[in-house]
Amino acid sequence: MKTIAIIGGGWSGILTAIQLLKKSKNISIKIINSGQPIGLGVAYRTTDTSHLLNVPAGKMSAFTNNPKHFTDWLIKNGHSTDEIEKHFFPRLLYGKYILEFVDKIKQNSQVKFIDARAVDIQKESLNYSIQLNNGNSINADKIVLALGNFLPSTPKSATLNFFESPYYFKNPWNADYLKNISISKDILLIGTGLTMVDCVLSLKKAGVTGKLYVVSPRGYTPASHSKAEIYPDFYSELKGKTLLEIFQIVREHLKIAESKKNSWIGVVDSLRPHAQDLWIALSKKDKQQFVSHIRHIWGVARHRLPFTTHKELMDLKTKSQLEIIGGRIIDIQESNGIVSSSIQLRGSSKKRNLSVSRVINCTGPQSNYKELKEAFIQNLLAKKIIISNELKMGIETDINAKVLQEDGKTSTDIYAIGSLLRGILWETTAVPEISKQAEQIAKQIVDSIK
Ligand SMILES: Cc1cc2nc3c(=O)[nH]c(=O)nc-3n(C[C@H](O)[C@H](O)[C@H](O)COP(=O)(O)OP(=O)(O)OC[C@H]3O[C@@H](n4cnc5c(N)ncnc54)[C@H](O)[C@@H]3O)c2cc1C
Repeated sequence: MKTIAIIGGGWSGILTAIQLLKKSKNISIKIINSGQPIGLGVAYRTTDTSHLLNVPAGKMSAFTNNPKHFTDWLIKNGHSTDEIEKHFFPRLLYGKYILEFVDKIKQNSQVKFIDARAVDIQKESLNYSIQLNNGNSINADKIVLALGNFLPSTPKSATLNFFESPYYFKNPWNADYLKNISISKDILLIGTGLTMVDCVLSLKKAGVTGKLYVVSPRGYTPASHSKAEIYPDFYSELKGKTLLEIFQIVREHLKIAESKKNSWIGVVDSLRPHAQDLWIALSKKDKQQFVSHIRHIWGVARHRLPFTTHKELMDLKTKSQLEIIGGRIIDIQESNGIVSSSIQLRGSSKKRNLSVSRVINCTGPQSNYKELKEAFIQNLLAKKIIISNELKMGIETDINAKVLQEDGKTSTDIYAIGSLLRGILWETTAVPEISKQAEQIAKQIVDSIK
């Protein structure tokens, strides 16, 4: 019987196990996970009910061939169809959906969960040996890397020792930043994405009355989901075009939508199912251009907030408790519990100095693997079992998620899922993408060992 090791037991790892079990009764699966509750990862382990799914329930099914699986589960658990259509559900509720799968898998004798961190992989003559941080090792014939979200990278600053201080919170996904908080004091959050929004909501819930400063290079305000007219699919016009041509065509369509008094949201949503194909077809230079110039605005347009969340954020802004600043941190220092930060304002020679009580890093998961201080990644990179992606976003794989190794050779045994494929697929972390990838990876593995 062949053994498949899944390294990482977040939702990507669990979805892969579910698909493998569906496809073969003649395999053994070992799920190696540490650090987060099995299945939940950083996204769904939150206990704060104000942290909502940012994807409508209808798109959160575990199965691509059964898109109603999650909404049926919601109905079975007492939610009405009206509620499902109108609301975004708490992520902790989605966590309960995941945990039902985990409980089922736990009862399956084909699966073994190992609570440890993988630190290295050794190629043996017939298979692989995975070294764990508890000194044990696991043998496997095939490996799926489902490593998920790593902590954000340390911000750039002239003085670096601040980032060792207790006033700096490098993990925005646990609630440590709420501990011993002085509610009337000001706080700086770095990054304006959805993680920042989670933190702001939790700070508000904790009763914080101090000012919340949010800084990012462009200072974009997150956008809201809202009902938009369905815009006709114009992907055929974009196929085979350069980034500049795509940009110009999309701009024309945005103007058409505007002339009909329709929202830009319909145009963006019509692009969403084609985002991976558009990305794959771009040249390396165009991908770099996208990352440098368009990534942030695409992020705002694509990662939108539930309406109620957006309103809470805007209310805080109106009351001047929240201020979003476009600029770059130049320096952060701390003295006697007072944190002083200096910001170079966007498009200006002016600097702004802020005095706050703590700083939370909300810049998003670190995806430059060369810079990760993770023994497992560094060992695999050193042995060229994986290669860092040329755009510094995850690792190199072929289009079927098979890992590329030394000299660009494709591994026949090691696969990657989710955020590791960021440079290859661009849109690759949300449930619609990982559920599809899990199915495709499981099929390839099972076909290859028949
Ligand atoms: C705050 C947040 C909110 C999100 N909200 C949504 C949403 O509403 N809808 C949506 O579709 N998507 C959302 N996402 C995207 C989200 O990333 C995916 O939906 C999904 O949770 C990703 O799961 P994962 O298994 O790939 O990663 P993770 O959830 O990060 O899990 C990876 C697991 O691997 C473990 N691991 C890593 N390295 C090792 C190792 N060497 N050895 C052993 N274990 C290891 C980690 O400890 C962790 O348990 C959100 C993401 C974030 C960060």
